[in-house]
This record gives sequence, C-alpha cells and structure tokens, in this order.
Amino acid sequence: MKKLNNLECIFCQIVSRKAPASIVHEDEKTISFMNIRPMREGECMVIPKGHIDHFTDVPDDLAAHMMKIAQKLGRSILAKLSPRPLRIGYVVHGFGVAHAHLVIVPQHNEHDITSLKFFEVVDGKIVPAQDSLPPPPPRAELDRVAELIRIE
Ligand SMILES: [Zn+2]
Repeated sequence: MKKLNNLECIFCQIVSRKAPASIVHEDEKTISFMNIRPMREGECMVIPKGHIDHFTDVPDDLAAHMMKIAQKLGRSILAKLSPRPLRIGYVVHGFGVAHAHLVIVPQHNEHDITSLKFFEVVDGKIVPAQDSLPPPPPRAELDRVAELIRIE
C-alpha cells in the first residue's frame, strides 16, 4: 500500500479524524461514510484507509473487500430507507477526490447514476449541474441516515 496519509487529501483527513464525516462502517483497512453532496438519500462510499489515487492501483483483495462492504451497505439502504430505492448502483469514476472511492448510489429512477439531469458537459468536462443537484443536507441529516444504515 502507498503512503498511509496524505495531509492535503480530504479523505485521508477523514481517516485520521481531522475532517468530519458521517461514518457508516469502519474496519482495519477501510472506512465508509456518507457523501456530503448526495444525489439521493443514503448515498455513501467505501474508501481504503491508505492513500491510493487510482482505483486500479487498489490491490485486488482490498478491492474485493471494498465491494463486499458496498454490498452490505447497499442491502442496508434497501432494507432501511423509506422510500425504498428501486435499485442500488455502484460507481468508481475517479474524479472529484484523488483517493480511490467506491460510491454506493441509491437509485429511484434510471437517471440517478449517469444522467445529464445531474451533470453537464462544460468545456469538454463532466461537472455537476449546480442548479439541478439537491442542496447539500446538513450534517445532522447525514448523521441521522448514517445511523439508520450503519453496518457491523
Ligand atoms: Zn487520501
């Protein structure tokens, strides 16, 4: 694994508790927490604790471990949130924060992962469509949902 902590990386700051997060799972190698700007309630992510930029550099056994956690969180979201999402999607896109992250995406309709409803192309880059994104929920709301879907 690469260096354990990158002081300028917000996800490494979450790992070391120097930045706040609404945590839904943690073990020796990973930490999972709510997305602060979710498209849908319950959107969260699994990251390796060590700073690894590209997901393709995550060791295979660790990547498989991350997927197992994502599966548990996806099932928890389906079981505990109301309204219940129609499906759970998983996204690894590699942009935003340069620390590998596997996003668990509750889907209430077919546009909830790939749609230009939430993203737009500006100067050849896909960026969040600020006007169409839901407003960021307050920390207390993220904490409430995190408590609801937390797994062991
Ligand atoms: Zn990092």
